[in-house]
Amino acid sequence: MGRKGLGVVTTEPIRSGTMVIGYYGRPKWIWSIPEDQRNFCVQVDYDRYVMPRRGSFGWYVNHSCDPNCVIRGPGRIIAWRDIRRGEEITFDYSTNVGWEPYEMKCLCGAKSCRGVVRSYFHLSSTIRQKYGRNISAYLLGRRTPHAVHLLYS
Ligand SMILES: [Zn+2]
Repeated sequence: MGRKGLGVVTTEPIRSGTMVIGYYGRPKWIWSIPEDQRNFCVQVDYDRYVMPRRGSFGWYVNHSCDPNCVIRGPGRIIAWRDIRRGEEITFDYSTNVGWEPYEMKCLCGAKSCRGVVRSYFHLSSTIRQKYGRNISAYLLGRRTPHAVHLLYS
């Protein structure tokens, strides 16, 4: 993982389509989560996040701009292709984040690295098409929740 710190590596091959990690738990309001822990959460609605158990795999899964997994539903991490033994498990955080001001410097090292990870709404149409419906369920919804209007108005 190098500069990225900790990550999750598979000790067994994983076939495309297999569920790898699930984020479960009661969604919490963003502002009730300590700031230093928000990066470990998965977003399940515009203002709601699920925090994985500290130290669990979900806590440590890193972002990649060229990931081997995708997110489906509120928080299921699914293998997007066959994954070899010893590969790091990654998904694209931008397919989960709907928080407009979100910005994280990317250290994924992929050829297609975007340099900065931002919200889904900053992805190019080409990248959005590549992921299709393999994004967080709440991002598939058309309506913008009232809470977001309040935050941005
Ligand atoms: Zn990257």
